Amino acid sequence: MNQHDIFDSLARNAFDFLERGIDEFDKAPKYSVIHFCAAVEMLLKARLMKEHWSLIVSKPEQANLAKFMAGDFASVTMDEARARIRDIAGEDIADDAFNSFRTLANHRNKMIHFFHADVDGDGQAKAQIVAEHCRSWFHLHRLLNRWDAYFGDFHVEISRADRSMKAHRKYLSAKFKALKPELDTSRKAGNKPKACSACGFKAAVPDALDAQIATLRCLVCDHTETQVEIDCPHCNQPVVIASEGYATCEHCGGSIEPEHLVDALTDHDAAHIGIADGDDRWEPANCGSCDGYHTVIRRGGMYFCANCFDMSDHVEQCDWCNEPNTGDMEHSYSTGCCQCDGKMGWEKDD
Ligand SMILES: [Zn+2]
Ligand SMILES: [Zn+2]
Ligand SMILES: [Zn+2]
Ligand SMILES: [Zn+2]
Repeated sequence: MNQHDIFDSLARNAFDFLERGIDEFDKAPKYSVIHFCAAVEMLLKARLMKEHWSLIVSKPEQANLAKFMAGDFASVTMDEARARIRDIAGEDIADDAFNSFRTLANHRNKMIHFFHADVDGDGQAKAQIVAEHCRSWFHLHRLLNRWDAYFGDFHVEISRADRSMKAHRKYLSAKFKALKPELDTSRKAGNKPKACSACGFKAAVPDALDAQIATLRCLVCDHTETQVEIDCPHCNQPVVIASEGYATCEHCGGSIEPEHLVDALTDHDAAHIGIADGDDRWEPANCGSCDGYHTVIRRGGMYFCANCFDMSDHVEQCDWCNEPNTGDMEHSYSTGCCQCDGKMGWEKDD
């Protein structure tokens, strides 16, 4: 076996565990929690494998290929995997995504260490499991799409898992029905519940920030997300984009990217006048959360990143390159911002 084969068998195994986690839910919810969580861990490890096989060993400096192939090694924890994906592959797994995986792992640990006699007959416990699966799959599915360069051979498995997850949601319909009075109240108050991107039920209650941006919390599965409504840059039909600046238009299939959102969400008249008056708060800023270049725009008194949907209450200039940025700029003269390396970087190049 070479690196590619190991990756392939790890990813294949992960999708197998994922399917089992979904399929066996009704008969054996406990094993469903265990298998689903193992699948998430394996896919994070598979992503690490694409950098180097030794990165999935807990102490890479002691990694030994013969032992690795024999399965004789301690593997990374979920937290270590996230840190290595960030530090070595340079790809951040956002907090909301990682928290959904961690909830799953905590639940799995509880299931393994404490005997739950009655989880099978406990409707509430079962609904909680499915809600966790929905939230995790929402985030995992996104990561797999983002990592298409690595998981491109698994489109069939990914769409099959997505279909299974859609069927899996039926276990939440009792909870959705029970929430009807609460959802009606919110509708009457003018906060019409929208379809949740994780569980699909129209139970995501919006808290509007302005006419185009709202944060939503789903009462069925607890998923939270920020949604932006714009007219598609290709077909002009209204589209709703959830949680990050990359999407596919449901009407024309055109791809929508952060730069389209920056354009659609910028108040061009106000920005034009503001910039002419020397008000630099209208200049597009860089994002301290996702390192996006000119993805941050001003909305009312807030600054919104069209790439990662992060919100900040202020921007600051980098003391080295003078670009406006969100996030902490205190030491930017020496260390720079996400777009420059500051004085230290400049001296190193010299
Ligand atoms: Zn939901
Ligand atoms: Zn379109
Ligand atoms: Zn951002
Ligand atoms: Zn800078």
